This record gives sequence, C-alpha cells and structure tokens, in this order.
Amino acid sequence: MTDYHIDWNAVEQEAAGLLSRYIQINTINPPGNELEGALFLREILEKEGIACEVYESAKGRGNIITQFRGESSIPDILLLHHIDVVPVEEATWDHPPLSGRVINGEIWGRGALDCKSLGIMELMAFMLLKRQGRCPERRMVLAATADEEAGSTWGAGWLMQHAPEKLKARYVINEGGGLGLSTKHSNLHFCQVAEKGVCWVRIVFTGNPGHASLPHDSNCVVEMAKAIEAVSRYQSPAVVTPPAEKFIQGIAGEQDFMPAEEFLGILSSQQSTAIIDKIPERILRQVLNASLRNTFTPTVTKGGSKTNVIPGECFCEIDCRMLPGSTPEEILETLDKILQTRGCRGFTIQVLHTSLPAESPLDTPLYRVLETSLKHHDPRAKIIPYMSSGATDSRFFREQGIIAYGMQMESSLVSMERVHGHNERITIENLTMGSKVLYDTVRAFCS
Ligand SMILES: [Zn+2]
Repeated sequence: MTDYHIDWNAVEQEAAGLLSRYIQINTINPPGNELEGALFLREILEKEGIACEVYESAKGRGNIITQFRGESSIPDILLLHHIDVVPVEEATWDHPPLSGRVINGEIWGRGALDCKSLGIMELMAFMLLKRQGRCPERRMVLAATADEEAGSTWGAGWLMQHAPEKLKARYVINEGGGLGLSTKHSNLHFCQVAEKGVCWVRIVFTGNPGHASLPHDSNCVVEMAKAIEAVSRYQSPAVVTPPAEKFIQGIAGEQDFMPAEEFLGILSSQQSTAIIDKIPERILRQVLNASLRNTFTPTVTKGGSKTNVIPGECFCEIDCRMLPGSTPEEILETLDKILQTRGCRGFTIQVLHTSLPAESPLDTPLYRVLETSLKHHDPRAKIIPYMSSGATDSRFFREQGIIAYGMQMESSLVSMERVHGHNERITIENLTMGSKVLYDTVRAFCS
C-alpha cells in the first residue's frame, strides 16, 4: 500500500523539524494563543499551494480549516487535532517544556503527544497526498482547533456554530487513542470509539466568618475538607456499558497477565475490582476502573486569604466523568448524597460544564482501512476499540452522527502517563510511523 516514491527519510526529517517548531509556539491554555499556531500551520500549507481559512473566535484564539477537493460533494474524511496544550510545571521537567528539543531520537515538549504530533502526522499525510498531484475521489478536510483543553468554547464548539458546513464529513480522525499495550504476541493500539461524558461542578460552602483565634463549629473550610475527603473515598458501582464490554473482550485474549477467562471476570460487577487489582500496570488498572464507573475527582480548592481569618465562603471543584447512560442530574444527586451522608453543612452545588457521552460504530470501512494500514507497518499491531475517560472534540461530531475515531499512532502505557504529565515527548520513529499509517489510511480510503 505504501507509495515507494516517497522518500520516508526526508519525510522523517521534515516531520520532526515541524513538530519541534510547533511545540515552540506557546499555546498553553489558558490563555491559549492558538492564533499563532494556526498561522504557523497556514504558512506551511500555503507554501504547498493549499489555501486555508483561519477563524479567530476571540482575540488570539485561532482555528484553521482547509479542504482538498475530491469528487464527492460531502467531504468524506476530516483530519482533526487541537492547537492548545495544557499548562506545565516547568521545574519538574528534565528539559524545558517549550523547547521542542531533540534528544536521543525523541522530541521533547508540551504537546509532543497531546496532540501536536497528531497534528503534524495529519499535516504530512495531507501534504504528501497533495504533492502526488492526484485528486482524491473523496474530499478531505484538515482542521485544527483552539480551546480543546478547556471545554472547546472557542474551538470546535465555536466552529460548529459559526462554520458548521466547513466541518461536515462522514468520518473524523482525531486524538483520543494513544494508549496501548505490548504483549507477547501483539502490539495493541486502543482506538477511541467512545468517550465518557463530563460534568464539572463547583461546591460552594458558607459558614460564619470570624477571628481564627476563636475557633467555632461553623467553619466552611472544615466542611469543605470533609466533603473532599468523602468524595475522594466514594466509589460508584461498576456498570458494564457496551463500549467497555468491547474493550475488555478485545484485550482479554491478548493480554499476558492472566488466563483470558479470568480476565473476562472483570465484566462481572462482583469480581471486577479484585481482578483489576491483579494487573501489575497501574495505568491500565486506572483505565479499566474508569471504564466501568462514574468517577469524582476533587481538583480545585479556594478558601480563605489570611491565616488568622475564618472565611465566610470557600469552594472546591470536582471533575466528574459519566458513563454512557448517566446524566448530569444523576451526578448531582450522587454528590449531594455523599455530602449529606458525611454530615456536611452549608453547601450548594453548581454545574460548571457538561458534555454527554458519545460513541461511534466499529463496523465501518474506515475502521477496517485503519487496521489494515497499521498492520502493514507493524505486523504485530491490533486495534482494540476503547472508551476514553477524557473528552475530546470528537463529541461535537458524534452528536451530529459523524463517525469519529481517536487514533494517536503513538500507543503505549508509558505515553498515556506522559499526556498532561511531566517530560512529555515522542520518538521520531513513532512520529514517522504515524505519518505513514495515516498517509496510507487516507490514501486508501479516499482513492
Ligand atoms: Zn488533547
């Protein structure tokens, strides 16, 4: 399937150089500043003779869309990634997070995995097809969005309102994969076909203010501490939803941790925790646990401003993730019950942001082409359908009935831990491999 006229060594150099430069553009969100990233992408595409449209959704918040016209009236495939990245705790990194430095065959920096590398793979696939001078039968779109890491208000959400016709496609390839497992017999790549819903809440506590030298029993900070402790201890009941079932069945026969029959016991709610606990890989335990439960994670706290003052109000924020079938109302009821049971007083729960769980089917031509392309470059590769605990821009497309797959070609347990973590980096080898797989996929699918 590979076109051997392509000089892949040259592609490797080009892709690595582009990713390094892309990482150096500071698109940490907040504030985002994705416009600079969008202009960088535009400059590269325009040099190839590809016209682009840049949309500035708010000051400095840039999005970019370009099309490669084929014969079909509706674009068949949209290659999507987001330009923004999450903040860094720079002191904990071994190399500066915005350096894009290449060290021992790895490109370092925030966005190296999530998801500027996917952006460069998509860009390379798009440009390589254009350089071949052939018009694909199916139309292709390339889009890069702002604000994905903060709810997509100025990115995919904004574009869906202001330029929905530009994003119409039958299929989307986006981030969301990136987790994988190497076993004795295979390299498992988890392809995101579904994602959990999001419900971010703020719990506000009120109490009596006063001098801290005179303690009393209506200190809102104490109520908040009780609440955080209770929420973090809570474990919601295990529920096997269809995407989780496919994921667990997909891994069962491939993993080396225990006999397949035993692994399948995870599907029974009484045994799931005990079996998951036997898996030595922490990240996989976390993923399996999250795929079976609604989760509630305290993240933000804001209390008083002076050591000797008891504040009258404080708040904490909880990141809740919902399984398919759950609703934000159910999440709020659960939280209320947890706090009541713990005896917390003086609180109100506010919803900050929600998005509903969404899923795409597996029996599609694109899914099959993806699998074939991947296998062509890695005979040990196998695609396992997976529901991500994190949300992506794919939800905006799935809501419209567009089929979206999250396929980051760098798939391993270690890469998953580096996403949003410290020392994020990608090997040049994986960047090139991803570019090849994506190129083959799009070429096979569109012509
Ligand atoms: Zn991302």
